[in-house]
Amino acid sequence: MYKAAVLPGDGIGIEIIPEAVKVLEAAGKKYGFSFEFTEGLVGGAALDATGVPLPDETLELCNNSEAILLGAVGGPKWDTLPVHLRPEAASLLRLRKELDLYANLRFVKLYPALIDSSPLKREVVEGIEIVIIREATGGLYFGEKKREKTEDGERAVDTLVYNTWEIERIGRLAFEMAEKHPSKHLTSVDKHNVLESSRLWRDVMTGLAKEYPHIEMESIYVDNCAMQLIRDPKQFSIMVTENMFGDILTDEASMLTGSIGMLASASIGGRVAMYEPAHGTAPDIAGQKKANPLAMILSAAHMLRYSFDHEDAAVSIEKAVEEVLDEGYRTPDLMSEGMTLANTVEMGDLVASKV
Ligand code: NAD
Repeated sequence: MYKAAVLPGDGIGIEIIPEAVKVLEAAGKKYGFSFEFTEGLVGGAALDATGVPLPDETLELCNNSEAILLGAVGGPKWDTLPVHLRPEAASLLRLRKELDLYANLRFVKLYPALIDSSPLKREVVEGIEIVIIREATGGLYFGEKKREKTEDGERAVDTLVYNTWEIERIGRLAFEMAEKHPSKHLTSVDKHNVLESSRLWRDVMTGLAKEYPHIEMESIYVDNCAMQLIRDPKQFSIMVTENMFGDILTDEASMLTGSIGMLASASIGGRVAMYEPAHGTAPDIAGQKKANPLAMILSAAHMLRYSFDHEDAAVSIEKAVEEVLDEGYRTPDLMSEGMTLANTVEMGDLVASKV
């Protein structure tokens, strides 16, 4: 019996979480384990109900759980609030910080059935499988911020700070992942030519590379990386980068897989890990059963793999997703001629039944 916190959040978060729970329960039935799921409030939903986007009870629930499933947080209703109340900054970023989830692993995998859903040519994307490791508790999103009046308007300041130890711990994790990968190749992304924080990043990564002589580490500028991800994404296998670069590059990389609704992620580093899709709350389609639940379901598979050491059950979910796609079922974000349209719940049912 595994204890998992379930935080649906807002928008499509509320719709995709039950599908992941359904699939996890099916996997548990097959492989002989079960879950005690406890739901907690987070994001705009928590703000509306309790006045804060991350209530103490939710934090306590997370700390007392063995893993966390998170939908997504935020939406237009809360966009104009001061930053200390905004769901993304005040709940998600804080949750990552409080739980020390400094590494956000994003899994960019193109399922063969979706080759024609990617906007890139088949020969460019075929066979893509990349893990992008994004530093998630430092950098620009956590540095000091201010806004002040000036004679001719306003001045806004964001601060990008990285310490050696922060780069070293994510760097080590990246080298260790590269060690387990057949390519033995690691790409470190920075902006060494312009940013001081990137110069420290590159110094630390170059230093670490000496400890892992059998790994081929390559440093690349973020602007070039954005271009290479479209030009020749197959050159990448394991990538590591700082917070904001990772945020932007992973959204770009999601399109290699056909839809952002396919991009699963795991936030690790602390005692308890959190599993969440890389996308947001998709207010444009929320409440219409149009959301693709597969990123959430695939994130749940990673929960079985990383938190509970059930590789067999994780693989069975990934295989189930592959089979459902092979049979031609598609949520609207991936829909094309000749395919069968499935809504959020139908897609969850299909995957669960295959498991
Ligand atoms: P978004 O990822 O929510 O949506 C971008 C586009 O992708 C939209 O057109 C949306 O319909 C589509 N999309 C996203 N997920 C999908 C899915 N599963 N199935 C089908 N289509 C999907 O990004 P956004 O519009 O920039 O942000 C909306 C809200 O989400 C904002 O309030 C933002 O702050 C928040 N957000 C939260 C997280 C998070 O909780 N991790 C991440 C990003 C954005």
